[in-house]
Parts: sequence; structure tokens; C-alpha cells
Amino acid sequence: MAVSHRLFRPATTTVKKTFSSFLIRSLSSSSSSSSGSSLDSKIDLEEAAAQLEKSSSTSPSPSPYKGRNFHWVFLGCPGVGKGTYASRLSSLLGVPHIATGDLVREELSSSGLLSSQLKELVNHGKLVPDEFIISLLSKRLQAGKEKGESGYILDGFPRTVTQAEILEGVTNIDLVINLKLREEALLAKCLGRRICSECGANYNVACIDIKGDDDSPRMYMPPLLPPPDCESKLISRADDTEEVVKERLRIYNKMTQPVEEFYKKRGKLLEFELPGGIPESWPRLLRALHLENDKQSAIA
Ligand code: ADP
Repeated sequence: MAVSHRLFRPATTTVKKTFSSFLIRSLSSSSSSSSGSSLDSKIDLEEAAAQLEKSSSTSPSPSPYKGRNFHWVFLGCPGVGKGTYASRLSSLLGVPHIATGDLVREELSSSGLLSSQLKELVNHGKLVPDEFIISLLSKRLQAGKEKGESGYILDGFPRTVTQAEILEGVTNIDLVINLKLREEALLAKCLGRRICSECGANYNVACIDIKGDDDSPRMYMPPLLPPPDCESKLISRADDTEEVVKERLRIYNKMTQPVEEFYKKRGKLLEFELPGGIPESWPRLLRALHLENDKQSAIA
């Protein structure tokens, strides 16, 4: 398809610099955003990063973790549960959970040629262009900054080494949590995912029970069923079909696995193998993050 061919050309150094400038613009002083949206203005990367650091450390935060600046990233295959654990941690730590997949879906719900071309990519399990995703993320970060948000937990970004390089150039990510789940469970979890079309809550109708063997123990993940209010309003994501999930997994292995390596080399990667469903996994994740003693952890 012409669109994907054109959109998937590799980013040159100039393109990377342009994207960085765009992201920095949204992360640095808000006055710079009002001066227009051209992508070619020269911005000093180090100065912008310093401004970002300064603005995050002085922003108000209602969390008991006030003063700690969380700039965390969640990596992991489709269906692993990035959204579930990122959103729980976001409530616990008082930092926003920013999922680029959600930003993309919001954008796609609008009409227009660009939206229908992007829908074509998303619904076939392909990545959308870096330019588009950086622009969406920049807008979201800028809006958060204006509201006084401090830090973030990114979910679904970065997904390519180019995106990781750009992010690394503009801010200091302190931790990258790489969620892992046995491959047999990933497809079943995507196919079982349901979303309430009214309140947006996520559920899962799949009951995953993988027999243990000499190498690995049994894995049981009970369904997460909706309350009666949501039951009649459940929908599935258009890209949660078997064919598209398999393509998303293929793309993850090709494009995003190198990002794991990128952060491993920088000593930022925490590998976390999910032992099962939320009741088993959540306390262990908190322990791995040294958050297990916090009273609020238990109820998050
Ligand atoms: P997944 O369950 O596969 O992790 P997401 O909800 O994170 O899915 O993303 C849905 C789709 O949005 C992706 O398949 C891709 O088309 C697009 N997308 C989200 N984040 C990015 C990104 N960082 N770069 C490129 N495309 C993205």
C-alpha cells in the first residue's frame, strides 16, 4: 500500500532532530508553544532537557510520593497487560498514565483522510509513523504540563529504537519495566479483551489455564468479568482479531525487541515475568519495584 510504503521509510538524522525539537517544544516552557508550531526552529537539546527537569521537580503532586519524579516506561508484547499495571501504578504514584495506543484510538475516532489512512495501518497491526506519534505525545505532554502534571508512566512508547533515541535525547527515563508473559497466553488475552463502550473500563472474558510441565509451573488467569452495568455495552478493539494480533506480535519482535536491548545497555531495564493474573502479579511487581510497604499499594 502506498501509504505504508511512504510512511515506513527510515528516519534520517535530520528527521530525528526535527522530531526531537517537536517533543522538546511540548516538554519545555509553555510560552514556546504559543510562538507557533513550525518544526524547523532550532532548540538547544540540553537546555530543553534541563527546563523539563526543572519544571517536573517543582510541579505540585497530590501523591504521597511527592518530590520523587517518576519517568517510567512500560514495554511488553500486545496483550501482556501494560495498560493494567501502568494504570494501577499511575494511581499509586500520582503520575499520569500515558498510553500512546489510547491517543491513537482517540485520534482515529475523528473523520478525515489522515484518520482513515492511519486506521488502515492500525487495523492491520502496523505501527503508525514516528512523526505522527511524536506529535500526539507532544500535545498530550504539553496539555499535562499546563495542568501541572509531574512525571509520567509511558505505555506503548517508545516502540522503535528511533523513538527511544528521541526520548533519550529530551528527557531522562529512570526505569523501563519490561513485562513478560508466556506466549500461549498473549493471543488468548487479546482475543478475550472487552471494553465498555460507555465508561471505557477494560475486562477480559478469557479464562487462561496453561498446564505446568517440568520447565514451567501451571499458569491460571481467571477472566475479569464486567459488572452488570457494563455487560451489555462491551466492544472489542478492531485490531484484536487473531490475524492482526499475530501481526502485532511479529512487529513487536521485529521493531520493539531492539528497544529492550537499548535500555538494557543503559542499565534501565527491569525484566518482570508475570506469574499469572492480577492477584498474584501485582504484589510481586510492587516488591520488584520496592513499593510493597506502602499502605496504599494493597488497595491500588
Ligand atoms: P498493543 O496492545 O499492541 O500494545 P496499543 O494499544 O499500545 O497496542 O497500540 C495500538 C496501535 O497504535 C498499535 O498497533 C500502533 O498501530 C499504534 N501505536 C501505538 N503506539 C505507537 C508507537 N509508539 N509507535 C507507532 N505506533 C503506535
